[in-house]
Amino acid sequence: MTTPNAPITQDVLTIPRKLPEGSRTNIVGLTRDQLRAALIAAGTPEKQAKMRLGQIWQWVYHFGLRDFAAMTNLSKDYRALLAENFVIEVPEIVSKQVSMDGTRKYLVRIAGGHEVETVYIPEENRGTLCISSQVGCTLTCSFCHTGTQKLVRNLTAAEIVGQVMLARDDLGEWPEPGAPKDETRLVSNVVLMGMGEPLYNFENVRDAMRVVMDGEGLSLSRRRITLSTSGIVPEIARTAEEIGCLLAISFHATTDEVRDRLVPVNKKWNIATLIDALRDYPRLSNSERITFEYVMLKGVNDSDADARRLVKLIAGIPAKINLIPFNEWPGAPYERSDWERIEAFADIIYKAGYASPIRTPRGEDIMAACGQLKSATERARKSRAEIAAEAGL
Ligand code: SAH
Ligand code: SF4
Repeated sequence: MTTPNAPITQDVLTIPRKLPEGSRTNIVGLTRDQLRAALIAAGTPEKQAKMRLGQIWQWVYHFGLRDFAAMTNLSKDYRALLAENFVIEVPEIVSKQVSMDGTRKYLVRIAGGHEVETVYIPEENRGTLCISSQVGCTLTCSFCHTGTQKLVRNLTAAEIVGQVMLARDDLGEWPEPGAPKDETRLVSNVVLMGMGEPLYNFENVRDAMRVVMDGEGLSLSRRRITLSTSGIVPEIARTAEEIGCLLAISFHATTDEVRDRLVPVNKKWNIATLIDALRDYPRLSNSERITFEYVMLKGVNDSDADARRLVKLIAGIPAKINLIPFNEWPGAPYERSDWERIEAFADIIYKAGYASPIRTPRGEDIMAACGQLKSATERARKSRAEIAAEAGL
């Protein structure tokens, strides 16, 4: 019979068991509860676990340390125990491209040899990191480059948090121990607008965002995190309750007929069902306005009638509408709306009382703009004919 709560002896602390390479636990991406349990399982006395957790958390997420040996407020023996049982690992940057406008695109390698892209967009008073949640996407929005890449797998919480950490590494943003608190942040905002549908990887995205929001570590407020979804209705209320971040919806059309073609998940949850789910969001999350993303496709969804229908549909929802000029990619079956058309569309929305910023494409020269992300896994590529067929063209 085993005794579940057997006292931890000093021996466990001083003579750590050597675990084989690869079986050590990665600390990155664990929730506080998970890390606490792992520390205890590795031999941390239960009474000390809370304090040790706090110390390690601060080293990993506030100071960005990757080496247990440098955790100077822990005893040498305890550091050795940690090194025997744990690693602090973030995905590797395989290559980095820097756009003329300062946007940085990282190609990131994750376990299994897969790759995802992460984009850093510096702006005047802030810097936004666009992170991925899946390798590829199961959905097949016909205007999206990522949608032409079949899903390979969900990212783990570690790989999602790791994207924030590797960007801070590259930008040299970790504070020196003892340095005065610096309030200017290079990565001040995070948007889940990279590759993948975040609400089809809900638990990992939630756990990762809880780590990113934790006030003792990376400490980004929930109002500086925006999750973009194509409209996975059953997970929307959960996003409010369990994450509480801001929400963006890839809306893109004002009739089911057109939205079915652009965002095929609309066949499952149509516009009326989606709008219903959104009415409750701001109240549930105690959050600000919902962003409606609207990609401007020439002759497809950009008429004055579309603009008028759009404001009618969202009436009563605290909202802003983000117009995204379509970003081209090789083989794309659409064109970007003319500038005058986009402005006329924006004007109708503005006159109806909504903020209607037109998103300036960033990092276009390095294929880093919205919807252009795609890792070059040619094996997983759909053919041009498949893309056109899915778009109903
Ligand atoms: N899968 C999620 C988040 C990633 S996409 C979602 O669909 O919301 C981020 C935004 O870029 C979405 O609004 C998406 O519809 C839009 N987008 C995709 N392809 C685009 C393209 N080629 N040009 C402009 N925006 C695009
Ligand atoms: Fe997937 Fe979003 Fe692209 Fe649609 S727009 S295919 S949901 S990544």
